[in-house]
Amino acid sequence: MASSADLHTHSTFSDGVLSPTELIDLAYRRGVRIMALTDHDTIEGLPEAFATAARYPDLTLIPGVEISTDIPGSEVHVVGHFIDWQDQEFQCHLQQMRQSRLGRARKMVDKLVALSKPVSWDRVQSLASEGAIGRPHIARALVEAGHVATVNEAFDLYLNRNGPAYVQREHLAPAQVVEMITAANGLPTLAHPRELYGLEELLSQLKTAGLIGMEVYYQGYSPEEVERLHAVADRFALIPLGGSDYHGMGGPQEREPGDIPLPDEPVQRLLALARERGAPGAV
Ligand code: AMP
Ligand code: MN
Ligand code: MN
Ligand code: MN
Repeated sequence: MASSADLHTHSTFSDGVLSPTELIDLAYRRGVRIMALTDHDTIEGLPEAFATAARYPDLTLIPGVEISTDIPGSEVHVVGHFIDWQDQEFQCHLQQMRQSRLGRARKMVDKLVALSKPVSWDRVQSLASEGAIGRPHIARALVEAGHVATVNEAFDLYLNRNGPAYVQREHLAPAQVVEMITAANGLPTLAHPRELYGLEELLSQLKTAGLIGMEVYYQGYSPEEVERLHAVADRFALIPLGGSDYHGMGGPQEREPGDIPLPDEPVQRLLALARERGAPGAV
C-alpha cells in the first residue's frame, strides 16, 4: 500500500544513488506530498532539496538527518525531523562525524587490500563524491573490481559488523544523539527498530532523552511486525512513524519512495508537534 508521505530517504549527499532533485522528482511523481530527506550525518543536501521542492507548491519537505550510534554489539540509528539545520553547533557535530567516516573508510580499504580484495581509495572517494562516505560506497567499489557480484554480497562477505573488513565508527551513544537533535530543535525518532535487542529498555532511556517517535512502517516489515511495534510505540507514547529508507540501490528489499503503508494520522501528529515547537516550514 502506498502512502502520500515518506519520512526516510537518502540522496547522493550520503549513500543514496539519486541527487536530491532526482529523488524529489521521483517521489512527487509517485504521489508523495510530505517527505523528509534524511541523509546520514549530513544536511548538505537540503539547500538543493528545498530549491527543488519549491517547484511543487503542494509538497511539504521536512529537513531531516539520520545519525548512526553504537550500543555494545550493535548499532542504533536515529532520524531527526524538522531540525534547525542552520544551527552552527549541530553542523559542527555533523562535520566531525563525516570526518570520522573518512578515516574509518580509509581503514576499511586498507583491510580489503590486506585481504587481497583491493579497491582503489580514489575510486571509493569518487563514488562517495562530496557526500558522507560509508560502507555502501566501498561495497560498490568491490562490485566494480569484480570481487563480489552484488552490494549485498559485499556486506555479507566483508563489510557487515562481523565481517573481516569492518571498522567501527567513532562511538556515539543513542541518548547523546537524541539530545543533540533535540538541541537543534529537531524531533528525534528511532529508526528501523525490528532487530534491536532490548528495545524496551532502550526506549525508556531514549524517551527520557527526548525521543518523540519510532519507525513502525518500514521496508520488509510484515503486518504482524507492524502491529507489534505499533503496540510498543503506544506503550511509550511515541508517534509510530516510518518511511521507505530509499537509497536507489535496487536489491530485493528496496521500496520506492512512498511505497510504505504509513498512515496519514501519525504524520499529522508529527506536523502538529513541529508546529507546537515552532519549527519553520511546519504547515
Ligand atoms: P555505514 O553508515 O558506513 O556504517 O553503512 C551503513 C549503510 O549501509 C546503511 O545505511 C545501508 O544503507 C547500507 N547497508 C547496510 N547493510 C547492507 C546490506 N546488507 N546490503 C546493502 N546495503 C547495506
Ligand atoms: Mn544508508
Ligand atoms: Mn539506518
Ligand atoms: Mn536510512
